[in-house]
Amino acid sequence: MAEIKVQNLVKTFGDFTAVDNVSLTIADKEFVVLLGPSGCGKTTLLRAIAGLGMPDSGVITIGGRDVTYLPPRDRKISMVFQSYAIFPHMKVYDNIAFGLKMNGVDIKETDRRVREAAELLHIENLLDRFPNKMSGGQRQRVAVARGIAMQSDVLLMDEPLSNLDALLRLEMRAELKRLLSGIDATTIYVTHDQIEALSMGDRIAVMQDGVIKQCDAPTTVYDMPENYFVGSFIGNPPMNFVEAQIIKQDGALLAKVGDFLMSPHQVMVPLLQKYEGESMIMGIRAENMETLDRPADDALKVKVLVVEPLGAQNLLTIRIGDDTVKVSTHPDLKVAADDHVWLRFPADKIRWIDRGTKQVIYPQ
Ligand code: ATP
Repeated sequence: MAEIKVQNLVKTFGDFTAVDNVSLTIADKEFVVLLGPSGCGKTTLLRAIAGLGMPDSGVITIGGRDVTYLPPRDRKISMVFQSYAIFPHMKVYDNIAFGLKMNGVDIKETDRRVREAAELLHIENLLDRFPNKMSGGQRQRVAVARGIAMQSDVLLMDEPLSNLDALLRLEMRAELKRLLSGIDATTIYVTHDQIEALSMGDRIAVMQDGVIKQCDAPTTVYDMPENYFVGSFIGNPPMNFVEAQIIKQDGALLAKVGDFLMSPHQVMVPLLQKYEGESMIMGIRAENMETLDRPADDALKVKVLVVEPLGAQNLLTIRIGDDTVKVSTHPDLKVAADDHVWLRFPADKIRWIDRGTKQVIYPQ
């Protein structure tokens, strides 16, 4: 069992808090992605779990064993770090075999694992080469092969695909996912690439400023962000945010978007009471609005500013009040810039967000 448990971890550099009281439990054999913008603390958190940077406070356990202050070699983990350069004076074969030899794995088994890992990463024809005669992408694959060949219960990876070109990255993403699902290690994978996170992780921990803002399955993080930040960070385009005034008319609470009055989800009405006379943020994804080319009572009239044909869909840019909104439509809907369209906002697709706390109020 290799459950990883991080409790109240704090890591500072001088006055700066890079990891701010983070708690996270990764189940045995689970694949969790740490995702967030540059500088949010992903690598620092991973390094603390690896034993490469001692925390100021907090506890890290692996398989129930307190490893907080143990050196990396005593943690029974393997790592593929961006900064973990492979040895330039060793051939690829010996680089991959290095950790296995250090661990006293016999020669036959070492050979089997080296060749298997090399084959999985399509570098079997490079085994006799020295790393300085290879591209950055090839070297990165050697580093991944070395980590995988170890067959540790815990695998920590920091941006292992970052040096690959776009096409190879796409191919390797699927390969790595297949490969990792076969090796059954508890895996933590750092990336700032949300597509990588959404496509690979069992769960994604989305970080901002040293804090985990949400940790859930990819579809949950995408469909039901718990706060403004997660909605704005995940998705291409990101979630739309539109200001809505909460007003009372004829005894009923309504949300006013632009000059359009919407009747919010009935379940939500009690939660809305305290926002009467104030504004909230309505979060909705581009693909979750219905676009009509003719008026309807329950739809908001908007002018199309830009149409971007993207093949399987068209992306419209419109404005609602002061907010710029992206709407995805089927290419069969013929619209051009300056046309008017009518938008429906399905109540069950809306995330209602408090303007102050930026937390989703409903649905939770
Ligand atoms: P990236 O995606 O760019 O690698 P990250 O989310 O992994 O970013 P970290 O490398 O964990 O971010 O860094 C978090 C913050 O801590 C950054 O602001 C960084 O400048 C700071 N930091 C990291 N290492 C050190 C260090 N050794 N000394 C001082 N500050 C550091």
